[in-house]
Amino acid sequence: MNDLEPFSYPSTAHERRHGPKGYSNFSSFKPWLRDEFVFRCVYCLNRERWYPDGSASFSVDHLYPKTVTPERENDYTNLVYSCHRCNSLKQDRLTLDPTITPLSRHLRVDEAGNVRATTPDGAKMIDLLQLNHPTYISRRVFYKELAILYRRSHDDKQIHNLYIHAFGYPDDLPDLNSLKPPLGNSLAFNVRESHHARKMRGELNNVH
Ligand SMILES: [Zn+2]
Repeated sequence: MNDLEPFSYPSTAHERRHGPKGYSNFSSFKPWLRDEFVFRCVYCLNRERWYPDGSASFSVDHLYPKTVTPERENDYTNLVYSCHRCNSLKQDRLTLDPTITPLSRHLRVDEAGNVRATTPDGAKMIDLLQLNHPTYISRRVFYKELAILYRRSHDDKQIHNLYIHAFGYPDDLPDLNSLKPPLGNSLAFNVRESHHARKMRGELNNVH
């Protein structure tokens, strides 16, 4: 990956890979969303690996808030994976929907670790989610520099281990095959391509 790739917003709108149905509590969708959005927050791109308690620092976010569309509270297509911070800052407001618009059309991260808006909607999202909080900027710089260090010295075992720790998959990949959504899964054929299933087959890369 290039140095800033961990902070590159997707160049395409997210196309759903899973379709679980029938859970009566939206939190039950969390393992599906972890796999769906590759263990990172759709808004700030922070990864589970960057938090001491991993997925416990993440939650299920409603694109259309429960107060606006209560009938979609347990609709998987209205749910995304978000860190607690972005989720609590967003509250009941609407922001860019990464399943409709490619976020790279609105946001990019510069060399200094700042998120820059390229559209008015992108600017609103930066403000709403405080994406340029100093803690976030320094975190981007830290991981960018780690990526540079790895590129220069990937044969160094300790640097290699640090890099894998930062950009590898979490250890507790959800076993979606063991989950039985009450009303089935409209995209069940994709479960075999989930990260856990690929790891079991030895097909998962070290980093993402
Ligand atoms: Zn976030």
